Amino acid sequence: MKGSAMASSRQPAKAAASSAAGEGAEIKNYQLGERIGQDELAMAYSARHQTLDREVHVHVLRRSGWIAVSRFQLAAKLAARVQHPHIVPVLDAGHDERYGYYLVTPPIKAEPLQTLLDQGPLAPPLAIRIFAHIGQALDELHRQQIIHRDVQPQTILVQADGKAYLTGFSLAATPDGPDLSQLDEADYLTPYAAPEQTFEDRTPEASLDIYALGAVLYHMLTGDVPPGTGIEPASLAVRNPELAPADRVLRRMMAPQPHLRYPSAAQAAAALRGALRSVVEPSGGDALSEAGTEGQWLENPLEIVLRSRLTADFLSRTQQRANQLHNGEGVRRLLDSWSGNNPVRRRQLGQAIRIDQVVSYNIYFYDLKVLYETRTYPETRERPFSGSRVSSRKQAPDRWQIDVPVPEEPFADVPPTEVAVPNSEKSSVCPRCKGETRITCARCQGRGTLDIKRAVKTPTGTHSELQTVDCPDCGGQALLPCDRCDGQGNLLESSVFQFIRRGRLWQNTDDIEGLPQRTIEERSEPVSSGPIDVHDPMWHAVQPLHELIEEATKSVSEETRIVAAELTIRGTPVTEVDYTFRNKPRTLAIIGFDDNVRGDLSLFDSERILIIALALLLVVLLVAVVYFGVVRG
Ligand SMILES: [Zn+2]
Ligand SMILES: [Zn+2]
Repeated sequence: MKGSAMASSRQPAKAAASSAAGEGAEIKNYQLGERIGQDELAMAYSARHQTLDREVHVHVLRRSGWIAVSRFQLAAKLAARVQHPHIVPVLDAGHDERYGYYLVTPPIKAEPLQTLLDQGPLAPPLAIRIFAHIGQALDELHRQQIIHRDVQPQTILVQADGKAYLTGFSLAATPDGPDLSQLDEADYLTPYAAPEQTFEDRTPEASLDIYALGAVLYHMLTGDVPPGTGIEPASLAVRNPELAPADRVLRRMMAPQPHLRYPSAAQAAAALRGALRSVVEPSGGDALSEAGTEGQWLENPLEIVLRSRLTADFLSRTQQRANQLHNGEGVRRLLDSWSGNNPVRRRQLGQAIRIDQVVSYNIYFYDLKVLYETRTYPETRERPFSGSRVSSRKQAPDRWQIDVPVPEEPFADVPPTEVAVPNSEKSSVCPRCKGETRITCARCQGRGTLDIKRAVKTPTGTHSELQTVDCPDCGGQALLPCDRCDGQGNLLESSVFQFIRRGRLWQNTDDIEGLPQRTIEERSEPVSSGPIDVHDPMWHAVQPLHELIEEATKSVSEETRIVAAELTIRGTPVTEVDYTFRNKPRTLAIIGFDDNVRGDLSLFDSERILIIALALLLVVLLVAVVYFGVVRG
């Protein structure tokens, strides 16, 4: 192992080593051997526990000053606190009078990812594998409210079999950690750091690490160091057109706005798997990718964030099912029995293929029922009024406070209904007739009569003469009842608004690109159901739910509100098997608790299918011959 397991080696030491530990030196119970590497904070030695005769690595702090000491102690404490298959465990830590602070790790034979990257980009399957491992470690840290803040190729160790470890916890932020705001940022911000990262921030977000993980992925797939903050990296297609589908995953991980990034690394890993499903082929020859079959459980972000809301029974059954498939020959046995059940399926399928990777996870479907209520801005209505003066001294209530009769059945629609605002009534003198109840007739302009021309025939010819007649509109009265107050002299004004209720169903699913959606949905079962508050941030922590609620709240306005929302989540277990058959990489999916198998034609026995088809054809021909023979005969 060339690098140390505990910190990065991004820069030379600035301070002198506090002591000169070396080969043969003894620190407590450990006898130091060969120096195997150094990083920014510590010198690493292979060593042996003298009493237990056990191989270990001992890392000795080689810098002085309280910041270095507290960072070294923090790294030791966190690595010891978080137990995870992709975090190097800390076996022991302490202070030696002669050599200062030290910590002890298992003798893991791994290289910094940086060393691999020095030789160029990684094969996509290896990159995805490292990405998934580091992502799992990060999700576990985030679950414990630890933000790593230094994810980069120097703090990732990779074993020869492709297993990756996250190290370098000395810059991590925890609620009870030391204040590192005095660090000189220029020395610690790498091209993998998110644009908003600063060590002054005492409550950093997990999105910092998601960005950095994306930047590391970019480096692994392209072989290039990411361009740095604020500059959008080039499309992966520039390097390899087949990687283009992963662009959208990278863009989202490295979005300048933290809230646009994936809320968890598991979600990013699932999206990446989906995007690169067609590209990921197990490569032969490369020692690092010959990792052997390994079952992996990919936790759905929903299960991380909202676990307590999901049916425990479903979770334990899916976990159990995954364990059965992952353990030993589980997948092979299942495929063998599947193929034995039908003559057209390839016999001994489980034995005929080379299984490269098995990944299990749950897919969720989200149904959000929303009841919208619209109350339009009140409009003023007036009607004729003859009673005594009305003027409410009470303030008219806000329209959203007014009790409106609603159907008992929740989510029932209410067609547009007019509702009067209480206490909004006010009487006034009719402005048209000024309370006189009558207005001047417009036709005769108040004269009561009209002069009209009439043609009169006389023996000498025709001439016209004026004749005065009663105005037909007012019947000679010169006045008409006021049409605004209907002759009442007063008006009554009041406010009314339209009240409408309508329900709508919104749906979303986890990313299931490339998988048979119908088959998966048919097998889904409810795992959570109940009313929710759409504004509760809890529901926004999972991307598909966030998208769903965003979409549902788009029609909310000054006039329209959500009065009820009910969320139902359905889930289906899926196991994906990457395998090689006749030297070609393929993928099949085992769906649902009834283990429905979906994949390509390699699952079937083409020769048998051909023979069966020929036999059927023969039968049809025979029937035809007999039939025509009978008809002719
Ligand atoms: Zn009037
Ligand atoms: Zn008139």
